[in-house]
Amino acid sequence: MRTPSAGRFRACFRRIFLVLAVAVLALLVLAAIRIVYAFRDRTPGYHLSLHIARRAPETEAPFLRVGFGRRTINPDLSNPNRPVWLAGFAGGRAATTIHDDLWAVACVIDDGRTRLGIVSLDAIGMFNDDVIAARRLLPAGWKLDYTIICATHNHSTPDLLGLWGPRIFQTGVDRAYLRRVQESIREALGEAVSSLQPADLSLMEIPVHPAGLVADSRKPEVFDPDIRVMLFTRPDAAAVIGSVVSWADHPETPWSRNTGITADFPGVLRDSLERGIVYDGQLRMEGLGGIHLYVNGAIGGLMTTDPETAVRDPFTGEEISQPSQKKSRALGNAIAQRILKHAASERIAPAQTAAICVHARSVELPIANFNFLLAPVLGLLDRGHVRWKTLRTEAALVTIGEAAIACIPGEIYPELVNGGIERAPGGDFDVDPVEVPHLRALMPGKVKFVFGMAND
Ligand SMILES: [Zn+2]
Repeated sequence: MRTPSAGRFRACFRRIFLVLAVAVLALLVLAAIRIVYAFRDRTPGYHLSLHIARRAPETEAPFLRVGFGRRTINPDLSNPNRPVWLAGFAGGRAATTIHDDLWAVACVIDDGRTRLGIVSLDAIGMFNDDVIAARRLLPAGWKLDYTIICATHNHSTPDLLGLWGPRIFQTGVDRAYLRRVQESIREALGEAVSSLQPADLSLMEIPVHPAGLVADSRKPEVFDPDIRVMLFTRPDAAAVIGSVVSWADHPETPWSRNTGITADFPGVLRDSLERGIVYDGQLRMEGLGGIHLYVNGAIGGLMTTDPETAVRDPFTGEEISQPSQKKSRALGNAIAQRILKHAASERIAPAQTAAICVHARSVELPIANFNFLLAPVLGLLDRGHVRWKTLRTEAALVTIGEAAIACIPGEIYPELVNGGIERAPGGDFDVDPVEVPHLRALMPGKVKFVFGMAND
């Protein structure tokens, strides 16, 4: 026979069990909602597939127009309750000052049939979802057939990806700043569209020895050290309208303890190309005028001017290893000096015609990295999936006359671009080398640009 107290105990136990079961179920439902929300596709149904090759008839008069525009994208450092987290290196690095301006620089090229936009940001990177969102802000009336949005991968700029917040599981992205950068892309492009003018395009490919400029900190040692330039001049007076310059190195010269916002060597390079190279108020080399856009190339595996790499300032002769603004200036001017010398003489294929062709498509990639699945759930990365464990990214090949541009997401390795893949001890990936034709062998044209951190 059961005693009344045993019956009460069982009823009580059943109630506790029920409450716990409901609580666990509620937690599971919340976790499921969190996961579904974290991985939701930010641009459902979006799939880019562009093949534009509108050739002008032979009889048509030469026609090439170009326009440049720019906007500063400095973050607001005035609110101590809203620190600005700098991207690159370890997390938790709050910005303290603005040493020099960050920019969104835009170039629009029009061959009379096709209109191409190129934007380069002084930023660590921008996810494809955010690139698509930025493109959706562009008015249809501007008739941009395709817009490439790149980041220089600068390590002294606000976090736009999420990995560098105050704590390991806290994003460093300020959504309001991200929106401002997207707005600035629109404004810079708008300025470029409204300043379109007839232009000649000439190309430069400048051989560079990496010693004293850039090191490869991970095996195998393969570089993409040459400088490539698209120079736009006015057909009448040959005055420079602007240029698109590409080289390959991490803009991380001020290194990991720097808390000053700076455009690093790309900023110095752009300024020197425009206004000339100035030391102690003295003009050492005449500038070109115009607006200059810097795009980073194959910087993966890993191109750096780290504290072990001494840069010789081409104008003071000083050897600088210590991370500093002085070192950024030496590096930027070492590149600018080479371009300014070349611009005076050796240009390839100057022409008023240059047909623009665009082949661009969304690419869906499976995710193998578990941390990349965990990070969105923790709120660290804000990145959607096309479907479970599948990311949308983007690749493109654009040609402008004799110039070809491969647009590659992320930091591509120079050995994939120029060849020289090997299985070396200490390499990033311990796998057998895959013998594929390197990227430049597959590209058309005379001067082959690789735009890294492009569109993703
Ligand atoms: Zn990097």
